Amino acid sequence: MQIQKQVVLANYTWWKVGGVADHFCLPETTTDIEEALLWADKEHVPITVIGGGSNILVSDDGVEGLVICLKNFSQVESVEKKDRLSVTAYAGTLKAEVLKPFLQEKLAPALFLCGLPGDMAGGVVMNAGVSEKIIPREFVEIVDWFEVIRLKDGKPSTQRYQNKDIQWTYRHTDGWQPGVISRVQVSWPNTPDVDIPQKVKMATRNRVMKQPLNMPSCGSVFKNPAGYSSGALIEKAGLKGYTVGGAQVSEKHANFIVNIGGAKASEVIQVIRHVQAVVKSQFDVDLQTEVKLLGRW
Ligand SMILES: Cc1cc2nc3c(=O)[nH]c(=O)nc-3n(C[C@H](O)[C@H](O)[C@H](O)COP(=O)(O)OP(=O)(O)OC[C@H]3O[C@@H](n4cnc5c(N)ncnc54)[C@H](O)[C@@H]3O)c2cc1C
Repeated sequence: MQIQKQVVLANYTWWKVGGVADHFCLPETTTDIEEALLWADKEHVPITVIGGGSNILVSDDGVEGLVICLKNFSQVESVEKKDRLSVTAYAGTLKAEVLKPFLQEKLAPALFLCGLPGDMAGGVVMNAGVSEKIIPREFVEIVDWFEVIRLKDGKPSTQRYQNKDIQWTYRHTDGWQPGVISRVQVSWPNTPDVDIPQKVKMATRNRVMKQPLNMPSCGSVFKNPAGYSSGALIEKAGLKGYTVGGAQVSEKHANFIVNIGGAKASEVIQVIRHVQAVVKSQFDVDLQTEVKLLGRW
């Protein structure tokens, strides 16, 4: 596997912003991932893992060390149909791919996964979920286990984590770090709902109506504080349309910051800080970012 130098990361993020990775690789196999970890260890450089890049803000000053991007480590390995439908996939498999067998069997995870960007490992790391009150609505409800590769005593080792081994909280998981998530198994009881295909169509239509999907973004920038909707607070504060350079609070959905053209990460972060300050001063509520900041800040 080739380890490239000075790769522009903006091309690997949904926001289309961010500087260069000192070193960068695109593993396609488990052996490639292990090779990447061994290389970083030998060179004494830190590693940063990215998946679909739909929830990250990469600094304009780039990322130190080796960025391991798993987008090419993508394959549904197996689909097993018994009393549950189980799907096992490589970490970089798009959620949209894992959705397909559930949709074919008219099972509820198809509705949950539709419209969720990024890959399976990103879904696990973020405990990705939807605001609609559907079941399932968060990754914790569908994951059986996932595997993590890391170096142990200088050698690659893979550890499997069962769902119950992990602390799953709102848009966050703990108890598996550090390492590279490599495989994920999800499952759901094999009890079809004939309306699932229609519900998936409606949910997809709803997203197109409510979200600025025609512009680069990272989805909801802020977590919803207990008892509040971040989008509603930002809109109430009159911040829709607030712009710094190429970064703008979406006119369509106030919890989205869109790249209206040529945005820099420094402009996105200025919008984030301004929104936090105004919401704090008007409503005394602290908005915390859902989006992960990567690189030299
Ligand atoms: C238009 C739009 C709509 C969205 N709607 C939703 C929504 O409804 N609900 C929701 O929850 N999210 C939503 N998101 C955010 C995002 O899609 C999810 O958080 C998604 O699960 C992130 O997956 P990813 O593969 O893109 O992860 P990335 O953005 O690449 O990474 C996210 C984090 O995971 C880490 N990571 C990624 N892969 C690995 C790995 N293999 N091993 C270890 N660490 C890893 C990264 O270092 C980073 O910290 C939306 C985003 C967009 C752009």
